[in-house]
Amino acid sequence: MAPYRVDRRPFAVDLARPLSTAAGTIDRREGWLVRVRTTGAEDDPTGVGEATPLPGWTESTATCRETLRARAGDALAESRRDLLTGVDGPAARHGLALALADLAARRDGRPLWAQILDCDDGGDGDDRGERTVRANATVGDAPPGATVDRAREAVERGFDCLKLKVGARSVEADLERLAAVRDAVGDGVRLRADANAAWDCPVAERAFDGVAERALDLEYVEQPLDATALAGHAALRERERRRAGGGTDVALDESLAEVAVDRVLAADAADAVVLKPMALGGPDRALAAARAAHETGVRAVVTTTVDAVVARTAATHVAAAVDAVDPRSGASAHGLATADALAADLGPDPAPVETGRVRLATASGTGVDPEVFEE
Ligand SMILES: [Mg+2]
Repeated sequence: MAPYRVDRRPFAVDLARPLSTAAGTIDRREGWLVRVRTTGAEDDPTGVGEATPLPGWTESTATCRETLRARAGDALAESRRDLLTGVDGPAARHGLALALADLAARRDGRPLWAQILDCDDGGDGDDRGERTVRANATVGDAPPGATVDRAREAVERGFDCLKLKVGARSVEADLERLAAVRDAVGDGVRLRADANAAWDCPVAERAFDGVAERALDLEYVEQPLDATALAGHAALRERERRRAGGGTDVALDESLAEVAVDRVLAADAADAVVLKPMALGGPDRALAAARAAHETGVRAVVTTTVDAVVARTAATHVAAAVDAVDPRSGASAHGLATADALAADLGPDPAPVETGRVRLATASGTGVDPEVFEE
């Protein structure tokens, strides 16, 4: 195998509206496209990855820049291991690991999801290797009337799983919003509530009690408590397990950025984990986390970090691979409908979310045209 040559180019895309993150509100996403080629082979395919740091979730933009600078240009890497060794920042590692996986997938003529599963084309006769992944719509936080309008609109567009933000208002106000949406969309639509670590234990218990009393039938409540509160989440889960008539599941998201997924699983702190490939250090690491979760009976939901087209499409492939590892996740939905959060993108989207679904065709690699690397 010829050595790898790495190039990167910076990009910035404006967001359609400000995004609140753990580290404050941002209005654009900045990162690097990473291109990997093997030297000396003219017709060898190109792999393209994306490193888009997100404050509070990954290394800083400056650290990511330095890491990629050290790996790019004339410094050739002899092997995949050579290229990835010592890359600690998750966003930089995501960019490099994705480019390598994309290159390998294109060389083998198979889609990225099959490459990271390390299986053959996955065609089971019926779908000829195509994969369809379900996506949830994010309704966000708004007063009850606006929340209901957005929820209805998402269902009309074909979504059958909605995620609402909670925690910015009182528990009682949030329960009102959730009840209004449940009334509006009926029982056939799954609802998730994401508290983004806004509650302490007594408030979270009131919220879970209210969900049960109002029979809101939530698929799960995401990150009710602080990211480090693994024992608190485990206790909440235990409380829900004992609830007559069945309780509400707990999903963890921010906790995975704060503590390793293995610790979250060992603490028995979650029914579901939210996996962000950019924050975990690459598609391979996200899939490994999903496999570890599945082995302990925990399901995985894949979400983007509101990235540009390369990383967003890669996250869709990761979701397809996760669905193959755990068929229960296939009955669920992933957080992939984030293209609308960008005011512009770097290139055409090969896998847009339509009617609450994303169809991954049998194109090689991510399916994103490698020309996206050229400005
Ligand atoms: Mg979340």
